Amino acid sequence: MPTSSSKLTSAVVPCPAVESLDAILPEEPLLMMGAGPVPIPAAVAKANTIVINHLGATMVKVISQVKTMARYVFQTHSKWVLGVAGPGSAAMEMAISNLAWEGTRMLSIKNGFFSGRMAEMARRVGARVSTLEVADRSVASLDEIAEAIRRERPEIVTVVQGETSNTVWNYQLKDIAALAKAAGALVIVDAVCTLSTMPLAMDAWGIDAVITGGQKGLSSIPGVSLIAFSDAAWERVKGRTAPNAHWCLDASLAENFWHNAGYHYTAPVSGVLALHEALRLVCAETLEKRFARHQKCSVALQDGVTALGLQLYAPKECRLNSVVGIEVPAGLSPGDVCAHISRQHQVEISGSFGLPIVRIGQMGEQCREHNLFRTVHALGRTMVDLGVKVDLPAGVAALERALSEGK
Ligand SMILES: *Cc1c(COP(=O)(O)O)cnc(C)c1O
Repeated sequence: MPTSSSKLTSAVVPCPAVESLDAILPEEPLLMMGAGPVPIPAAVAKANTIVINHLGATMVKVISQVKTMARYVFQTHSKWVLGVAGPGSAAMEMAISNLAWEGTRMLSIKNGFFSGRMAEMARRVGARVSTLEVADRSVASLDEIAEAIRRERPEIVTVVQGETSNTVWNYQLKDIAALAKAAGALVIVDAVCTLSTMPLAMDAWGIDAVITGGQKGLSSIPGVSLIAFSDAAWERVKGRTAPNAHWCLDASLAENFWHNAGYHYTAPVSGVLALHEALRLVCAETLEKRFARHQKCSVALQDGVTALGLQLYAPKECRLNSVVGIEVPAGLSPGDVCAHISRQHQVEISGSFGLPIVRIGQMGEQCREHNLFRTVHALGRTMVDLGVKVDLPAGVAALERALSEGK
């Protein structure tokens, strides 16, 4: 008789034996120095353990403060600030799917992996997307952008402030937004990695939608994100005739929760509380001081890495401070470097989607002097261990010099 046991096992799913988290996680937490998620402050971690009623009076107060603090961080007076349950990409999809639909003309300035994602999302809602392809390690000139806007007559222009994948900084963001505005287009900015690490003035620069995630500059947990729409953008959202195919990301439905204390979906209350604390710490520090801390720490890291004898990936004029890209010496792969530094030194850094680099983040809690010393030392030792000639004492000395000069 054919065994019935195979049938039986296919019918019943047996209770699995799994390891406890204690057995899986490293004894000492890894120092998260990659391109995100980043370390979170104790106040954020504590808030993330709390569950409250998502529709009660306490939540209403929390939401109100989150919006007020977010307006400061976005530098906008716009009422239309909302949270999103989901990654930075969900906030991105909220911007795209509410503002674009069948036939919308969109120009996507594509500096790399993440800015290309906005174009992909727009195509999926039926927009007519043209892409300005920007060469790796560079930014588009304002002339090229002006020409593309003249040619394509976009209703929407999308651009990233910091392209985390190849560590390029769109330092002309303000001028790009002005060009788009002058042509009557709405401007969507991906500030997932940069928000609160460098200046971004949504109102003053004429930006219509800014998106961010929790786990980068803000040093909150991944999974709860923020978005702000200008009045003009909100008018377009309200004026659309076809409903958004994304129910969870429908900004009009999200307005129920984020502005009218009503129900849309059960908000990730713990994550919103964590975000509240992350924003509160940004406000306590002030943006000016936070930008200065990021600048000082990133430049010191770059000095330290260069003095080790390694090459930075992006040229100086468009080098992103928030995430630093480092060329991997010949004969090694990014995976080799990341695996070794993690295993031997308990420091996590990132590779980058096929590029020959490793990336070290300088976002939020990553920009602390003790984290920098540990990271530069660990990177230097990793290179030595893997047979690359670097000058480890020179790297640490350069880091120290830059940090004390920057004081
Ligand atoms: C990390 C990142 C994203 C994606 O964020 P997720 O939270 O992973 O969805 C998008 N854009 C930029 C610039 C980023 O750095």
